[in-house]
Amino acid sequence: MTKKHGKHQGAADGQKDSAKASQGAAGTGEPLAGSAPALVGGHIPIVPRPAPGIVMVEPGETVSLAAIDASTDGGFEKEAARELLKAERTRIQALQERLYAEHKRSLLVVFQAIDTGGKDGTIRSVFEGVNPQGCRVWSFKVPSTAELDQDFLWRYHLRTPGRGMIGIFNRSHYEDVLVVRVKDLAPEPVWRERYGLINDFERLLTASGTTVLKFFLHISKDEQKERLEARIAEPEKHWKFDPADLVERKSWGAYQKAFEDALSRCSTPYAPWLVVPANRKWYRNLVVARTIADTLEAMAPQFPEAKEGIEGLKVED
Ligand code: ADP
Repeated sequence: MTKKHGKHQGAADGQKDSAKASQGAAGTGEPLAGSAPALVGGHIPIVPRPAPGIVMVEPGETVSLAAIDASTDGGFEKEAARELLKAERTRIQALQERLYAEHKRSLLVVFQAIDTGGKDGTIRSVFEGVNPQGCRVWSFKVPSTAELDQDFLWRYHLRTPGRGMIGIFNRSHYEDVLVVRVKDLAPEPVWRERYGLINDFERLLTASGTTVLKFFLHISKDEQKERLEARIAEPEKHWKFDPADLVERKSWGAYQKAFEDALSRCSTPYAPWLVVPANRKWYRNLVVARTIADTLEAMAPQFPEAKEGIEGLKVED
């Protein structure tokens, strides 16, 4: 499994030359092969550019999370990784400005993880300094009764990013095949049907000009224990702690199984899952940031053409 995954990991020399690594099929404007969506409105689907150590799930592959080491550091040193992260943030900020100015396509970044998996921390770190005007974060909680009166995708579709925007989903439509499955909130035939519906939904988004980047933050059970203990031990972390988290932990195995099924069934050529070894926060932040920067670079957003006759214009007193 690990070996098989090796070939999907980012280039080993990605540390040195990530810009070069991002010049591939998507960067050249070639449409994707296979079952990638046809062009709609002239949009070319862009595939994610996973950074070193991230495991991209191949369509049709059966994922075993136990086979993926959550503690990998990709060969990076902690302090060096922090410096590299700053450079990746700068790249994201510059590319986000172009995406916003271009106003043609959008990026949807989905984060899923088990409790304490680090979704909040990743979002805070990776998007630091990004112009808030071009970026929106949505955190999905237990659906309201009004939301439950609609189809399960309704509340997510309402919040997908419009042209020029980066949308960030902190939890997402995947909850409807994760917590819903684990806690038996809907009958099995209902949640089983949803994998295909999710793939169709993401296909629609992709074909409409939205690149969908899906990160699963993979931590080990021991790491979760440490993080929960830290939340209990440190009063300033108490707000993050809910005693119900300890009950949820008892369902660790059921959640891992539900995650594996979601990752296996919903990895498509146009929106593959990216499994991020996430025990080390500094490594997780770096590889997520680099993947976002490389993917935005592959999208190659362009500033619109300037109106004619601007050069040399004088501004009157
Ligand atoms: P977080 O853990 O994301 O920081 P909360 O502690 O408020 O935020 O937890 C949000 C809760 O909402 C989680 O327990 C999650 O499983 C639940 N939730 C999210 N989406 C759904 C859904 N579609 N159906 C049921 N529960 C959901």
